[in-house]
Amino acid sequence: MLTETAEGLFCEAGDFHIDPWGAVPRALITHAHGDHARAGSAAYLCAEASAPLLARRFGPDVKIESQPYGRVLTIGRARVSFHPAGHVLGSAQIRVEGSDGVWVVSGDYKRAADPTCTPFEPVPCDVFVTESTFALPIYRWDETADVIADLVGWWDGNRERGLTSIVFCYTIGKAQRLLAEIGRVTDRPIWVHGALLPMIEVYRAAGIAMAPTQALIERPRGTSFAGELVLAPPSARGTPWMRRLGDLSDAFASGLMRVRGVRRQRACDRGFVLSDHADWPALLDSIVASGAGRVLATHGHAEPLARFLREQGVDAGVIRTAWEDEGGGDDHE
Ligand SMILES: [Zn+2]
Ligand SMILES: [Zn+2]
Repeated sequence: MLTETAEGLFCEAGDFHIDPWGAVPRALITHAHGDHARAGSAAYLCAEASAPLLARRFGPDVKIESQPYGRVLTIGRARVSFHPAGHVLGSAQIRVEGSDGVWVVSGDYKRAADPTCTPFEPVPCDVFVTESTFALPIYRWDETADVIADLVGWWDGNRERGLTSIVFCYTIGKAQRLLAEIGRVTDRPIWVHGALLPMIEVYRAAGIAMAPTQALIERPRGTSFAGELVLAPPSARGTPWMRRLGDLSDAFASGLMRVRGVRRQRACDRGFVLSDHADWPALLDSIVASGAGRVLATHGHAEPLARFLREQGVDAGVIRTAWEDEGGGDDHE
């Protein structure tokens, strides 16, 4: 049902692309992260809860249509529906059915519980296009509750020492998931960098319960942040903005923190291993759950995953993306 083109995955029967990196007439979008939702296409179609995120990213003049999860839409000779992927708010697997069978494009997904989005739902198909961001056996996630307890304990320790705690996290998904998870164990307010505010607002408007937040900028200059917890995007690191925070301890929350070399390279005091992607066992489980006879890996460690699957007797290949050489995109792990 889908073929690779210079702009990305294309469905000829429905005359649309899925998560194209080029500008196309009609783009179906799995979710609002930058390596999947690129500006410049004439029209967009996504799952309902994803639309406000896309609108924030692309601006008010861009044509964005949306569909509730599970509703089937006929586009040309293809039947299309969006199904929860459990990755970030509004993230979807896209199911495409036509004369060549049923294809499912997973987008990014995870199987761990996440209070900020609808859980992943296995969708039976003939061909499963799976992401592979963390498709190596070293990637196995701990229980989220344990990671959060660890983080809150670190925050408490810093408070006793009179330090500000700052956690760097991605703008869409990770920041809100941290706020939701931390909000379950404490009602203390969390300070946030201005760049995180618009997407936090979108999540609040969608009814997602999160810890109370305050914009750092609202506090008069010179006020102490000792003992407070601050969330900021990775791009804020090392900027003059940081000076307001006083003596601090810093941390990065990402699946990448599983790798010692990456932890060292980021040189934060702490790395909290918290990912919005499936880990190795969850990827393999999800591939089996799809029931697909053919599996195509993309977005990340696609080659190793495809090779492993072939060794298990699965018909598996790779779909290259414009992001492959960038390590799977750096805005969302
Ligand atoms: Zn993503
Ligand atoms: Zn991605």
